[in-house]
Formats: sequence, C-alpha cells, structure tokens
Amino acid sequence: MGDEIIVPDFSWNNQRLNWNERWMCAAIVAAARSSCLYIHTGAVIVKDKRELANGYNGPPPGFELSCSEFGFCEKRTNKRGIGRCIGNHAETNGLQQIDWQDKIGADIYSLFSPCYRCSKEIAQARLNKVYYLKKYTSTKEDEHPDLPLEYLRQAGIISIELEETPPITKTIETFFPDGLKCPEV
Ligand SMILES: [Zn+2]
Ligand SMILES: [Zn+2]
Repeated sequence: MGDEIIVPDFSWNNQRLNWNERWMCAAIVAAARSSCLYIHTGAVIVKDKRELANGYNGPPPGFELSCSEFGFCEKRTNKRGIGRCIGNHAETNGLQQIDWQDKIGADIYSLFSPCYRCSKEIAQARLNKVYYLKKYTSTKEDEHPDLPLEYLRQAGIISIELEETPPITKTIETFFPDGLKCPEV
C-alpha cells in the first residue's frame, strides 16, 4: 500500500466559487442554525471581500426557549396571544455585531429580501447593496410586500436578486432538502 493521495470530489466540477456564491453559500450555512419553525434564514455582512458578521433568526441570548424548543412559532400559531416570533431576524443579528462606522458601505447577503423592519435597519446602517435569493412576501396587513424594497431604493441601496447557480443550489439541497420556504401571509 503506497501513500495514496485522495482527491476530494467537488460535486460542482471543482469550480471555484465567485464572490457572490461564496457569501450566499455562507448565508445558507448560517441559516442552518436557525431555531425558528416559521422560516429559516441567514445573513452575511461583507465589506472589502471580508466577512464582518453573520446571523440567523433566533432568540436573543438569555431567552429560555426558542421556537423549536417551544414546539411552535408564535408568528404562525399565536398560541400564547403574542403573534410574533420570539427570534430576532438574521439581518438584525448580524448588524448588531458590527460597529456603526464599519457598516457604512457594506453589503449584506440574505436568503430572503428584507422584511419591513429590517429594511429600515439596513437603511439606518447605510449599507451599499442587498443580495437575496427569494423575495420575502409575508408581511402584516398594513404593510405592502413591495414596501421593504421601496425603502431600500429611497435610501439609495441597491437590491439584487441573485441567480441560483449550481454551488448555491447544492448548498441549499445539503441543508434544506425541501428547498427554501418563503411562508405566505
Ligand atoms: Zn419563530
Ligand atoms: Zn427582518
């Protein structure tokens, strides 16, 4: 038995990830940590080709139980009469880890386009671009689903729906075999 060199089998033909794939795949991996039963999402915040922070949707430190530990997400069931998920959003969790000066001009990669509230936080942070895979359409009754992207446009932030290339598809299939679910209202 000689020393056999085992060459890893890169299932997307040894293709080097481009930058958009590199960050979006990282956002998908972050989403795999989500504890919410309503939606799994993740976000990566990037500047000058470096990751500043990442986040997924889940409750703040110290909260006793996540949605998955409760066995239900309050946003979907309203079992305790709160009607809101106990988790913070992936974008919020990522943005809160970064000093305000560093956020200016950064880009964010997220599985879904931002919700009403996160779009305001992204504008407040003065990010440059928002990349997402699917448009998030679940909003409250008084919020039009186009409003978050309209807020970004008003703030001069470019939002880009990324094409799902083979490495991105492969990463989604690995962590979310049933695909990304964008819940209905
Ligand atoms: Zn939840
Ligand atoms: Zn949000």
